[in-house]
Amino acid sequence: MTSESKPEASKASEMNRMSTPETSKPLPWADAPALAPTLAPTPAPEAALEPGDVPGPAAAPAGRRAVVIGSGFGGLAAAVRLQAMGYQTTILEKRARVGGRAYQLRQAGYTFDMGPSLITAPEVIQSVFEVAGKRLEDYLDLIPLDPYYRIYFHDGSQIDYSGDAERMKAQMRVFAPRDADRYDAFMRAIEPIHQAIIVDRLGAQPFDTLRSMIDFIPKAIKLGAFLPVTTFVRRFFKDPRHHFMFSFHPLFIGGNPFRSPSVYLSIPYLERAGGVWFTRGGMYSLVEAFARLFEDIGGTIRCGAGVDEIRVEDGRAVGVRLGQETIAADLVVSNADLGFTYSRLIAPEHRRKWTDRRIDRLDYTMSCVVLYIGARKQWPKLAHHTLILSKRYKALLHDIFQSKVLAEDFSLYLHAPTRTDGSMAPEGGESLYVLVPVPNLRAGIDWSVEAEPFTNRVLDFLEAWGLDGLREHLEVLEVMTPDDFEQDLSSYVGNAFGIEPKLTQTAWFRPHNASEDIDGLYFVGAGTHPGAGVPGVLLSAEASLNAIRRDEALRQAGVAGASGGAAGGMR
Ligand SMILES: Cc1cc2nc3c(=O)[nH]c(=O)nc-3n(C[C@H](O)[C@H](O)[C@H](O)COP(=O)(O)OP(=O)(O)OC[C@H]3O[C@@H](n4cnc5c(N)ncnc54)[C@H](O)[C@@H]3O)c2cc1C
Repeated sequence: MTSESKPEASKASEMNRMSTPETSKPLPWADAPALAPTLAPTPAPEAALEPGDVPGPAAAPAGRRAVVIGSGFGGLAAAVRLQAMGYQTTILEKRARVGGRAYQLRQAGYTFDMGPSLITAPEVIQSVFEVAGKRLEDYLDLIPLDPYYRIYFHDGSQIDYSGDAERMKAQMRVFAPRDADRYDAFMRAIEPIHQAIIVDRLGAQPFDTLRSMIDFIPKAIKLGAFLPVTTFVRRFFKDPRHHFMFSFHPLFIGGNPFRSPSVYLSIPYLERAGGVWFTRGGMYSLVEAFARLFEDIGGTIRCGAGVDEIRVEDGRAVGVRLGQETIAADLVVSNADLGFTYSRLIAPEHRRKWTDRRIDRLDYTMSCVVLYIGARKQWPKLAHHTLILSKRYKALLHDIFQSKVLAEDFSLYLHAPTRTDGSMAPEGGESLYVLVPVPNLRAGIDWSVEAEPFTNRVLDFLEAWGLDGLREHLEVLEVMTPDDFEQDLSSYVGNAFGIEPKLTQTAWFRPHNASEDIDGLYFVGAGTHPGAGVPGVLLSAEASLNAIRRDEALRQAGVAGASGGAAGGMR
């Protein structure tokens, strides 16, 4: 690849490479607050303690077995934590390979990450390695990105979004000088939200006692954390472009910024504080690193092993069934889609709270159409991450989330990893993915009919926008639709990001990490607290483990039915 065809970001990235064992420099986020959890020694549990108070034992009693259903990031991280705690843990994954939404596609020399592409909060990733007594840098090569993303607005103006305050303000000044002056105040206003969710680790607490919610309410009100994201941001910025670029982050986790609470403004702050990263070889190298880490500490992974039923006896999960095979376990953690797990893997008679009706009444996130494009050409106007926006913001989101119609216009996210890692495509080529948010399957769109014309519309748009010769240089074109989310990932109504992160489905209001219906059953991943996104699901693994340890402590203290279901009366 010539230096001309490989833009500046990749060279900067080469220079900024994360420390390796050979160089053994400090990790770049080493100054960030210590976020890794410390497993507290077992306290003497007292019956008077509330569930949320009990840190729980650091180690599982000898001989205990755990099954994790699914190998998304949440499942892998939970499995590592369980295995490290002493549970003999098995991951059962229905697909041929691990990774879930972070699956990989390789074709004709092009490598595509099929889902997540943007890494934030590296310290949260690091904490998974630390729990297992390993070093992240022995498994992964993390590369910082600069800019984080390039945003093209409908009027042709653009901005390179980064964590560099002065560069950000200089660009914003061109659009609206007063907004540029408000940048620092905005960052100061969202810093305490980030502090509460990430640094104080509310995102890693099960958040399943009423008390935890009641304790949080005054603080959240003071911070404005319950306001819709767009309302919060509008207090600072007037130019619609700034309004968009500081409010769109909930879309990364499937939320509508006009109805996601401002707790999700922790995302732009964590980007600013910890940077945006890429792993050499693509996001799938993070999947492989977690899988290897899990096996290195003695865990077992079985792929092609779809679970048909979670077996329940006397209100307690006792294992799983795959076809004729049953596997006994002391606890079961489901990383499969939460709506799917309750409605398809657990018989109705075991579900008092999460009945089929209630599962169906939840709001699920939007879905996506994703085009995976291998082309024998590169387009330097694309950065590693690029957003191309429609003129419509609120109205387009309304079409996707509420009206559930396929709009004429679209806003796109493009991933061009060759900017940072040339090995992702043949020399001089581009392994692009293009993500288009679309309504989930509740829209009733027949994707077997719509996929082809929709794909053509996207390709036409991209050629007209500036990817000249795109069709002519195509070597690979694969398309993922909401139907594929439903079929390949067992995702309820084909959601791309789980249960929608809106106020009435956040924190205590979200389905809990410990099942409210069944003892010994836990959830991890995008459907439970705190929610979607790689940092979110990794924190959910920590939250689920905290719930498991708490319940184990209560069990050892002889508190009857010490798990989500039985303790539910206290929640
Ligand atoms: C297109 C796209 C782009 C994204 N981009 C980003 C990004 O840039 N940055 C970011 O942080 N996040 C991003 N996200 C969100 C992020 O990818 C997800 O929130 C996260 O990966 C979900 O992980 P999870 O733990 O919930 O499990 P999932 O990835 O949902 O995995 C669940 C697993 O369970 C398995 N399973 C289901 N049923 C069964 C069964 N019966 N038996 C056995 N196994 C079963 C599935 O096969 C799957 O492997 C993106 C998501 C999508 C879809």
